[in-house]
Amino acid sequence: SKPIVAIVGRPNVGKSTLFNVLAGETISIVKDTPGVTRDRIYADCTWLNMNFTLVDTGGIEPDSRDIILSQMREQAQIAIDTADVIIFIVDVRQGLQDSDSKVADMLRKSGKPVVLAVNKVDSIQKFGNDVYEFYNLGIGDPIPVSAASRLGIGDLLDEVSKHF
Ligand code: GDP
Ligand code: MG
Repeated sequence: SKPIVAIVGRPNVGKSTLFNVLAGETISIVKDTPGVTRDRIYADCTWLNMNFTLVDTGGIEPDSRDIILSQMREQAQIAIDTADVIIFIVDVRQGLQDSDSKVADMLRKSGKPVVLAVNKVDSIQKFGNDVYEFYNLGIGDPIPVSAASRLGIGDLLDEVSKHF
């Protein structure tokens, strides 16, 4: 059946913005799941004749004991367990954070293929050089994207679909 692609990362890195752009650039039907819309949202997508299900997640704050944040982490772990490919998204403006490294560890444990999207690269001139530090996550080549400006989306989808 169709591969499942989950978007994971810390809160506010741009997961939902990217979800909407990917759903918009592909032929897609977005489905809310009542009761868990804050945590997970699904879209059936078609990209160059390839069908997949895209899943947004609420975000992972690795060390938080806050009840909401720990529920979001649990939901994200379920999405990771269910996924065939994971888009791990980080924020070039904030740079590499400890919590990104912890999310990377979770993803390595999953054994799933991971595509690393470095978001908020709205200008390659301004932020292009800041992308390199994300090689330190040891999770593969960082792909610069700007969900807000819709840049790098085709390259990202090409990389994701290599794992189908
Ligand atoms: P989520 O919590 O990971 O789902 O993040 P959101 O998609 O809600 O985005 C968090 C904030 O980052 C919002 O204010 C977005 O407008 C902003 N944002 C998302 N993508 C980009 C981007 O490519 N560039 C910039 N500059 N801001 C972005
Ligand atoms: Mg979101």
